[in-house]
Amino acid sequence: MAQKPKPPTKPKAAPQAAVKKKAVKKQTDSFELEPSKSRKLYLTDVALRDGHQSLLATRMRTEDLIPAAQELDKVGFWSLEVWGGATFDACLRFLKEDPWERLKTFRKAAPNTRLQMLLRGQNLVGYRHYADDVLKEFIVKSAEHGIDVFRIFDALNDIRNIKPAMKVVKQCKKHVEATICYTVSPVHSLHHYVEQAKELEDLGTDSICIKDMAGLLPPFEAYELVKRMKAAVRVPIHLHTHYTSGMASMSSLMAILGGLDILDTAMSPLSGGTSHPPTETFIAALKGTPYDTGLDLKQLTPAAALLREARKKYHQFESDFTGVDTDILLSQVPGGMLSNLASQLAEQNAIEKMQEVLEEIPKVRKDMGYPPLVTPSSQIVGSQATMNVLTGERYKVITNETKNYFLGFYGKPPGSLDSKVRQKAMAGEKPITGRPADNLDPELKVAKKELSEHQVSPEDILSYALFPSVALQFIDERERGELKPEVLEPISQGGKSPTAQNLHLAPVEFRVMLHGETYHIHVSGSGQTIDGRKPYYIKVDDKLEEVYLEPLQEVLASGPEAPISSGTAKGGRPKPSGPGDVTTPMPGRVVKVLVAEGDQVANGNPLLVIEAMKMENQVTAPMDGTVKAIHVKEGDQVNSDETLIQIE
Ligand code: MN
Repeated sequence: MAQKPKPPTKPKAAPQAAVKKKAVKKQTDSFELEPSKSRKLYLTDVALRDGHQSLLATRMRTEDLIPAAQELDKVGFWSLEVWGGATFDACLRFLKEDPWERLKTFRKAAPNTRLQMLLRGQNLVGYRHYADDVLKEFIVKSAEHGIDVFRIFDALNDIRNIKPAMKVVKQCKKHVEATICYTVSPVHSLHHYVEQAKELEDLGTDSICIKDMAGLLPPFEAYELVKRMKAAVRVPIHLHTHYTSGMASMSSLMAILGGLDILDTAMSPLSGGTSHPPTETFIAALKGTPYDTGLDLKQLTPAAALLREARKKYHQFESDFTGVDTDILLSQVPGGMLSNLASQLAEQNAIEKMQEVLEEIPKVRKDMGYPPLVTPSSQIVGSQATMNVLTGERYKVITNETKNYFLGFYGKPPGSLDSKVRQKAMAGEKPITGRPADNLDPELKVAKKELSEHQVSPEDILSYALFPSVALQFIDERERGELKPEVLEPISQGGKSPTAQNLHLAPVEFRVMLHGETYHIHVSGSGQTIDGRKPYYIKVDDKLEEVYLEPLQEVLASGPEAPISSGTAKGGRPKPSGPGDVTTPMPGRVVKVLVAEGDQVANGNPLLVIEAMKMENQVTAPMDGTVKAIHVKEGDQVNSDETLIQIE
């Protein structure tokens, strides 16, 4: 536009206002479709990974995913996200499936579509940083067995933590999708994300993912973010946003108008709630527009029917929350983290503290320099906040992960750390400033050696390097031919699953008359024993109840004639009574016993490693002294009312 020389006498206010108005007008116009810029929107379906991870606690088994994968392979998606994230851990831990076999099976089932995985940067599919040799071998094997697209993120958006993975994926000649975790905080801005996108492009990423794991990205910001990113980089932009707060479909559409190249959606039976916008809806909504996906809605019907039916099998893992959670817009606590916290508090008989914990989380997050809340930072912040509330004093107990976080072992936080909390958490140790994995010695050789008595493949060694105790249990059980997956509850009468029909079931339904009223009782199954407690699921007049049955002698022992105190906790260990009785702050499983009877220990020395909330916590000596007795061994489930170790 030709610029007239400005008359020096003209008042400044008027033209400025005019210019501003014009700019706003222009922005509004650009929301309209641009038919001249004929382009296609690509879709990634995430139902087979994030869909059931978000909705069914990652519990769907390979046999229920494969038929859908075969159907989805015919549709023409840009990619199918099928592996990584929490699925690897869940396969080994709960389903007793080999995650590597799952990947190979997917590859065979979907030979025509790119297979995609979620890789947590240097954390791979685990919760801590692994050494570079494990990282390299893991990616090489994942590529070999069928992964085409590696979506790589770091919970702190610390690029140093995703660089090595990007390099290995490149070497494998596969697609690198470097990822930016979207969050809302005083230290995050659109400018910051755009700058990061440029940096990732310079590092050679093939596409960039905006990962909105909590569903916090508002529609107009999505438009702005994608538009600005598209102006700054040449590589395709891929959006991953969760439905949790109800904004995801709007935000996705606005991102598309802003120039988005690829969108994540989930097949309708595994969409909505804490999952993603529905695939079929987007195909229909964009049909005939310049953003047409080119996919045929009719081709999705078979896969949808299969997934709808399969979901029924997992009803015991359905969360109570299925609709839209607008609280998250205030708390920013992702759905997965919420359910994790709720179960943790329930185990502690402290579910009434939930609100307090939710209020503590933003405070802990601030102290930690505003990390995005995603695995593993969500667990670190969540368990520390829980600890701060349960102990009644902030940072009275500091988890091992919190300590490591402040020492720099997870990377550089986005904002600055609270100096007082930091000093306390570091406990006199020196922080690191470099890339965390630079401090790790190679781990594969050690893992191989530790498995020398077992028949194992290179993939088994990787599983073990990632999850030592879980993988070892899996390998052990497999050797003995005793792999015992979690029991699925039978589907109630309406269910049509052939698997349920083939089960040989004892009578499970009764009619009971009591005081003239008839009750319809239906024993629908039992859950996994956790901390010595086994839940039973019983339906009374179609209302599902979860009950815990106490062993008979326990009931008797607590009766009126029982001794006042048996001095024994539920797990058979003594109840804590003196200052040298070491307990766990959270119920969990003993991963390592670090001392032996007779050892001299000083106040603060590590004694045990306990795994709780997917985190490993060190239990330290409460005082100087000698280890008098050890009441636990590796693999034991322990509760907070038990003495684990006695120090004199
Ligand atoms: Mn996700």
